[in-house]
Amino acid sequence: MLTTGLSEPAREDLCADAVVWASQHGLVYGAGRADLPAALVHAPLAVFPVAYPKASYVKAQAAMPIFNLLIDRISRDSAYLQQTLAPAAEFDDFTANLLRIHQETLSLRETRADKQLTLGLHRSDYMLDELSNTLLQVELNTIASSFGCLSTLMTQLHHYILQRAGCSDQEVQRLPHNQVTADLTSAMAAAVKAFKVNDAVMVMVVQPNDNNSYDQQWLQTVLWEKHRVRTLRCTLTQIAKEAELHESSGRLTIWGRTVAVAYLRAGYAPEHYPTAVEWQGRKMLEQSNAALCPSVAYQLTGAKKIQQDLAAGNTLERFLSADEAKLMRKCFAGLWSLDNLEDPETKKVLKEVREHPERFVLKPQREGGGNNLYGQAILDRLKDPKGLAAFILMQRIRPPINRCLMIREGSSFEVDSLSELGIFGAFLSQGSEVLINKQAGHLVRTKAASSDEGGVAAGFAVLDSPSLQ
Ligand code: ADP
Ligand code: MG
Ligand code: MG
Repeated sequence: MLTTGLSEPAREDLCADAVVWASQHGLVYGAGRADLPAALVHAPLAVFPVAYPKASYVKAQAAMPIFNLLIDRISRDSAYLQQTLAPAAEFDDFTANLLRIHQETLSLRETRADKQLTLGLHRSDYMLDELSNTLLQVELNTIASSFGCLSTLMTQLHHYILQRAGCSDQEVQRLPHNQVTADLTSAMAAAVKAFKVNDAVMVMVVQPNDNNSYDQQWLQTVLWEKHRVRTLRCTLTQIAKEAELHESSGRLTIWGRTVAVAYLRAGYAPEHYPTAVEWQGRKMLEQSNAALCPSVAYQLTGAKKIQQDLAAGNTLERFLSADEAKLMRKCFAGLWSLDNLEDPETKKVLKEVREHPERFVLKPQREGGGNNLYGQAILDRLKDPKGLAAFILMQRIRPPINRCLMIREGSSFEVDSLSELGIFGAFLSQGSEVLINKQAGHLVRTKAASSDEGGVAAGFAVLDSPSLQ
């Protein structure tokens, strides 16, 4: 949008302004330089917001509180989680380990169920499907949903850029208010408060040398400045080795502090558990009485396999009212299980995959981007039927294509692009009482139309924001 009407010097000027504004306001990213560990670079970004249909944006926002509830209800149905994920776990050690911890801590958590605080900070991601003219869910993230704080800054950057470019007030007002940082930190602070232990802290569980640590650090800065809650950053290894768990009460302490909230920005990928020690750390969290964001049950609920199962049959209706389920179903794309390759429905869809692999995405039970299979890689994987139960098959969504002026590491370039909208959700409960349930702002990521995968961290996409039309 907007890029065509600008002269070359004006564009260059705006690009330079965007980079400076990003650096001045903390819209930044670790540069990943071993020789300069503190080196920063502006986050990869789109210079102008992307035109987005208002009706779809509003629908996605309205769906979020229902998704929050849905996640919470599913997470309490342990038998359903165990049973639905068992076929995937048979071929996937990562899922198997999570299921094991879930099973081993079940009775412990049941005894504390009425007092237990649960904090959910989720992000539901969508793409517009041009063919059907609908907004379809790509996936639902229940662990380490990132870029909330940088996205809050992206909205501010686009305000600034539109004003600098001489756009009308009406144009600037098309940028929806974005409150992710404030909403996530308010929910975290509410969880700490409800924990009712003086000076208890939030532990942010991180991976060492995460380039996206500034997005995380914004949360801890605001949590301190606005709510006077202290955050300790530690790894799963440190939890296993340096935290203490008081078995009967569940009180977890580390470095002399009681942990009220454990917020995980790590633990979603197998490489975060290089040894049994990290799994031990994860289990200690699960045994504690801290508000876990997420619990293992929440993490399992976010599995792609669960997403697929909810789209099939009438599982969804078990957890939601008929009206709510109907609303949710409207945003489900085509999803298929590969648990039973002899099933006639599965055979039918696999025939279509072989003829038109470009219509599908094959997804393992993984998070963090860069794990899905497309095109020829799907056909290659299907040649070996072993372990396919650990994958789901999904309709490939085809979003509209827009020109986008992007900047990465100071260099600008224009490409055909497509966008993914994420809506954050905040949920806090104590026992069966819901204390917070709301949508908590948005994220838009835009990537080159030629790239299969998204992911800002993975280097495929840039941060963007919607201009509602
Ligand atoms: P992850 O949990 O690793 O982020 P996703 O399901 O979000 O997994 O897939 C990663 C990226 O792959 C998405 O951001 C999107 O760009 C692309 N993608 C995933 N599913 C689809 C789909 N059904 N249609 C089109 N693109 C998809
Ligand atoms: Mg994900
Ligand atoms: Mg994703």
